[in-house]
Amino acid sequence: MTATDQSPPQVAEHQSPDPPCDHESYQLTEIAIPIIGMHVLALLAFIPDFITWTNVSLLAITLLIFSNGITLGYHRLLTHRSLRVPKWVEYFYVGLALCCLQESPAKWVSTHRRHHNHSDEPDDPHSPTASFLWSHVGWLLWKRKGQHEFRTDNRYCADIVSDPFYALMEKYPDLPAGIYLIHAFAFWLAATAIFWIDISFGAAAWQGLGVMLWCVVLRTVMVWHFSWSVNSLTHCFGYQNYQTSDHSRNNWLVALLSNGEGWHNNHHHDPASASVQHKWWEFDPTYLQIRILKRLGLATHVIAPRQVRHHAGEQRKPACQDGVVR
Ligand SMILES: [Zn+2]
Ligand SMILES: [Zn+2]
Repeated sequence: MTATDQSPPQVAEHQSPDPPCDHESYQLTEIAIPIIGMHVLALLAFIPDFITWTNVSLLAITLLIFSNGITLGYHRLLTHRSLRVPKWVEYFYVGLALCCLQESPAKWVSTHRRHHNHSDEPDDPHSPTASFLWSHVGWLLWKRKGQHEFRTDNRYCADIVSDPFYALMEKYPDLPAGIYLIHAFAFWLAATAIFWIDISFGAAAWQGLGVMLWCVVLRTVMVWHFSWSVNSLTHCFGYQNYQTSDHSRNNWLVALLSNGEGWHNNHHHDPASASVQHKWWEFDPTYLQIRILKRLGLATHVIAPRQVRHHAGEQRKPACQDGVVR
């Protein structure tokens, strides 16, 4: 593993501080209705016609593939810059993330870097110190006056919006949803075409709808809850390897559901590291994938755990001390 120094994004000193939160004023966000609507749609997957071993198997496979867009793509690659990959590999993972409908790269990165900079403080976008439900999904459903929505904040994502593709998504905010809808339609189209070989078009289109509901809608909702659990469960339940300045915990259940992201206390202790596995049993499938990418020559500058970096005598400032927003 190669430990390297990085040029982390900075929070400009001269810019105004975060606005104060007003916890008394609530109104629905623009994404509240779509989030609720997706949960209702996901229930349609359980129409008896659609409950098949094929759909269950396809759900498992698509969960394994697309969830990497969030854990490896948005989180370790874009937010923390824990590794470097060729641009086409980065776009591949970002493409997977866009198919998980978790907003644009700049919005996601802004929100997560803010979380690291203000973990479990009033300016944390989703701390359970407000309430467990707030940290899980409430922050996506309700606006609090002066509160930090799921939005792009240039103080946290200047490096992201300097990429023309990611900047395009900020210029046209409906583009991420458009990409998501196209991929949902592609799932329906491909499944319908395959079913059509053996059955009538009407029956094939109906079964294709079942595949789309399982592999796109239900999968999306499941990845949402797995990601949200990192914000909620791992800041409430589990054990700590380190005394961090927040309430982060290591939670095996969340780790299992989120490709290793549940070892969250390890992550808050050392946000830059590409690996969150600090004990032998804290298996980190995302890091395993990073190692495979490195072996294939597709990942370089993979950031080693802090103790390894220090062992190597590298001069690296602790996260956040210098405005690092990891
Ligand atoms: Zn956290
Ligand atoms: Zn993080």
